[in-house]
Amino acid sequence: MIKDVIVVGAGPVGLMLAGELRLGGADVAVYEKLPAASGESRGVGFTRRAAEVFDQRGLLERFGEVEWAQGHFGGVRIDFGKLADNHFSVRGIPQFQTEEILEGWLRELGVTVHRSHEVTGYRQTADKVTVWFDGPGGPGEETARYLVGCDGARSLVRSLAGIDFPGWGATRGMYMADVVGSGIRPRPIGERVPGGMVMAFNLQSGVDRIVIHDENLRPHEDRSTLRFTEIADAWQRMTGESIHHAEVRWISSFTDTTRQASTYRVGRVFLAGDAAHIHMPAGAQGMSVGVQDAVNLGWKLAADIAGWAPAGLLDSYHSERHPVGQLLMRNTRAQTRLYLSGDEMEPLREVMRDLVQIPAVARHLAGTVSGLDVRYDMGAADHPQTGLRLSPDLVLRRVGGGPVRVGELLHPGRPVLVVAGTGSGDSGVARAADGWSDRVDVVTGTWASARAGDQAVPEAVLLRPDGYVAWAAPSRYSLTEALERWFGRPQPAVPAAGDRHAAVS
Ligand SMILES: Cc1cc2nc3c(=O)[nH]c(=O)nc-3n(C[C@H](O)[C@H](O)[C@H](O)COP(=O)(O)OP(=O)(O)OC[C@H]3O[C@@H](n4cnc5c(N)ncnc54)[C@H](O)[C@@H]3O)c2cc1C
Repeated sequence: MIKDVIVVGAGPVGLMLAGELRLGGADVAVYEKLPAASGESRGVGFTRRAAEVFDQRGLLERFGEVEWAQGHFGGVRIDFGKLADNHFSVRGIPQFQTEEILEGWLRELGVTVHRSHEVTGYRQTADKVTVWFDGPGGPGEETARYLVGCDGARSLVRSLAGIDFPGWGATRGMYMADVVGSGIRPRPIGERVPGGMVMAFNLQSGVDRIVIHDENLRPHEDRSTLRFTEIADAWQRMTGESIHHAEVRWISSFTDTTRQASTYRVGRVFLAGDAAHIHMPAGAQGMSVGVQDAVNLGWKLAADIAGWAPAGLLDSYHSERHPVGQLLMRNTRAQTRLYLSGDEMEPLREVMRDLVQIPAVARHLAGTVSGLDVRYDMGAADHPQTGLRLSPDLVLRRVGGGPVRVGELLHPGRPVLVVAGTGSGDSGVARAADGWSDRVDVVTGTWASARAGDQAVPEAVLLRPDGYVAWAAPSRYSLTEALERWFGRPQPAVPAAGDRHAAVS
């Protein structure tokens, strides 16, 4: 028996993708070279859209009480509190905690993560991919219909697929350390000091994350020689404070290298997460965007495996996510310059501080860093919500049921048609999806509020499993066409005697 999908890498992106595939009914295996979770706290939170994506699968509550954080663009503060939509990000969650939660979810879904299994190569043919690995029992191989490289910045899957990784090499180096008992004061969005920038914030009870940009520090990719004294010396040089006495939990360094895979798909092989894009960690975006890659790809691959994917669905992964990666590179490069350049950037920072007072500018920049401004091309559309995500916080009062949040409607990872208008045509809208009842859920009710952020709520809305609006009413465009475009051909009609709508059709 061949697998449906092999995922290489059990970082946050590979784990999320495996869960999405399983929800869609695919038989998936994850191969990870590390014997246990890395325990690294690289990422310290996630963007609003990543929080929403976790919420859509019932995972956000597993993080417990989270700290919602204000945003900035390259150190220029944006007042999220003044915006109609909720752009607040989540802070203070070390990446290993996100990975633990996702791996726990996979255990519940019955997905095996093969740890201590390093993928060493693969070969794809017209209908399958054979993957070779080195595991505890020696070399082995497994075959699947598809392979996804979620194997990080130095992706083997990417290089063996011959996919270019163009971009910009490192020009700056940064230090980071997680320490206990440093006694320093917080500088949550960074503070300019002569010769660079320093940042310090509480990561989790008692642990502080410090980040240093020293303009004279050359980027060094080899972290093996890095010692805490080097970091503590730099902190003292730049702030006058000593942190040499602090207890060290983790140290690392990173650069502003920015690259993006030229394509996210070659035949049966796909890339997601850092394997597809790397950049300076500005605004907690890397893992967040990678997790959204996974949520975009998962249901499409699962649909292909289940046999109902319409033509072109798999290619829409690249056409939807590659532009998001391009904008990610653009915004992180812009933020890096704004944030880390010297005094010569101060006039531009002042102009930016003025500009973010204009509501439209604040909304635009907030949408960029939160991920809420992602809009996919859904074809002919005339409703302002089409292509955007629908807020998971919207509440629907169900006919014959209690109130339910949009986020909860998406927990099963299936497409949903919500019919929430009061017009006489509503039952017709619901019936239009009859032919897709094996894959599209239909829910009817009324919205508890008239607005979603700064938009009026749609009277009816067709949601993809990733939470994006494929069709919304009122619209002069056909719901049936949207159903076919995203969810394939309808099932053959049920014989008249069993037709539950015979009386009204
Ligand atoms: C200092 C810093 C701070 C950051 N802060 C944030 C933040 O706050 N928020 C945020 O969203 N992002 C942040 N990021 C970015 C984030 O850490 C990455 O984007 C994220 O780890 C990418 O996840 P991934 O699953 O794609 O790759 P990875 O996390 O790199 O996982 C790849 C996995 O693949 C495995 N692997 C590799 N090769 C093989 C092989 N051949 N066989 C088997 N397994 C293999 C690796 O062992 C690894 O477990 C930060 C990054 C840095 C450096």
